[in-house]
Amino acid sequence: MLQRKRVPVADPSCPTSEEKAIAVSDVSEEYIYVATLQCTCGTEDELEVEAQSLPDADSGWMDVLHTVCPACGERYELYFDVTELFERYRPLFDLLSDEQ
Ligand SMILES: [Zn+2]
Repeated sequence: MLQRKRVPVADPSCPTSEEKAIAVSDVSEEYIYVATLQCTCGTEDELEVEAQSLPDADSGWMDVLHTVCPACGERYELYFDVTELFERYRPLFDLLSDEQ
């Protein structure tokens, strides 16, 4: 059986804090990234995304995916820097705010 190589969530490269956020240019990249991770319990099951939030960040725009391991129930918050994504749509936001 072919098994994909997964990155353990405990690995230092995983974006488990705002400081380690991974820059993405599209939200779909976040979900693709989550599918490459493996819970520390070692299950082959993919982490499930339970919720998404946009917390206040010190710099730029941050998107957080709240995930849970379906095998052991462990929860992980994964941070993504979506500043590039927001900057791309900034002209539209500005347009909307001008209409106020
Ligand atoms: Zn687990």
